[in-house]
Parts: sequence; C-alpha cells; structure tokens
Amino acid sequence: MSYLFKTAKKVEKVFSELDKQIATFQNQSGLHCAAKCNLCCMKKDLETSVLEFLPLAVYLYENNLHEQFLDELAKGHDYCVCLSHLKVEGKVTGCTQYEHRGLICRLFGFSGLAGKTGEKKIYTCKVIKTGQAEEYQSATARINTKLKIPMASDFQMKMDQIDPSMANDINLINVSIEKAILKVAYYYSNSPGKVPKAG
Ligand code: SF4
Ligand code: SF4
Repeated sequence: MSYLFKTAKKVEKVFSELDKQIATFQNQSGLHCAAKCNLCCMKKDLETSVLEFLPLAVYLYENNLHEQFLDELAKGHDYCVCLSHLKVEGKVTGCTQYEHRGLICRLFGFSGLAGKTGEKKIYTCKVIKTGQAEEYQSATARINTKLKIPMASDFQMKMDQIDPSMANDINLINVSIEKAILKVAYYYSNSPGKVPKAG
C-alpha cells in the first residue's frame, strides 16, 4: 500500500473519531446545523491544509473524477469547489463531497477552542449562536464543567502527527484540494499497477 494511500486512511480514522465525538456533543448539547445551511462553506478566504483533503483526492482518483475536479478548479471559483456548482450525479445541493470533507468542515460549529485565560469556548457560527441561543449559552457554560467537547487543537495535533508537512501546508481551500489531487494523481500516474481499489 502506498504512503499516500496509507496516510489518507490514517486521516479518515481521525475524522471518524472526531465525527463520533461531535455526534455525542450535538446530542448532549442539543446544538445542530440549521436546515440546508451552507453559510460557512461560502466563506471566500477559507483556509485548510492539504492533508485534510487527501482522502477526497484518493476518492476522486479511484473514481476517475479527479480531472473533472481539476477542470472545475481551473475556473477559479470563489467558493469551495465541492459546493454544488460542481454537479455530481445524485448530489446537487450543499457539499457534494460531504463524506470526504476536510477537518475544518467537521470541526466548525461543534468543537472547542481554548480562550486566553484557558476557558473553553465553542468554535461556531452566528447562525447557531443566535438561532439556538439558549442551547448555545447552556453548552458554553457546561463545556467548562462536565460536558465533553472535542477540542480543535487536539485534532490538529493528531493531523500533525500523521504528516507534519502536508498538515502545515495551509492554503485557500481550493488550492489545498488541488494540491492534494495533484499529489495523488502524480503518484499513481508514475506507479502503474498501484491504483488502489475503490471501497
Ligand atoms: S456551522 Fe453554522 S454556518 Fe455552518 S452549516 Fe452549520 S449552521 Fe450553517
Ligand atoms: S468540502 Fe464541503 S463542507 Fe467543506 S467547505 Fe467545501 S463544500 Fe463546505
């Protein structure tokens, strides 16, 4: 198994652990995303690492979608290329690659940040702070006592431990996605017979 493929699997494992902790936090806090909201994906200066999009890049390569994505990226979209302006059959609204979204996409909304004086605060959006004000205030108080919240810094550290170079290669989201796709495509185009099987 290639280094890139193994690395993508390690990232998926971290994502799976994070998703479980977020689900528990959502359950216990009552906080959730507003229906059909994509506001955080529409941030034009959203920055991410290359590493967090390695699983997406492997998936795209395995399913021969990488060139379609590279063509879309070449159009210079202001927003994340995974938003629905890229039509993927059966998935035309919101994030077209939800299963392979990045670390920031998972952390934002329902993870914790450490404040200047060490208190925890919820890394979330105005939609949640205002639309679910009561639950938000209650959860903010409780994460500093008994309520467990996944801390963003812990998961960033886990990514650093997987591959510090790709974890610290931070760019605008579409640049990181493109870099991840090019890394995977370059590797497999120079390693005939090493294309991983989908699934
Ligand atoms: S985190 Fe906030 S802005 Fe992002 S989708 Fe959820 S409700 Fe919308
Ligand atoms: S990958 Fe999906 S969830 Fe993340 S910013 Fe792009 S559209 Fe939003």
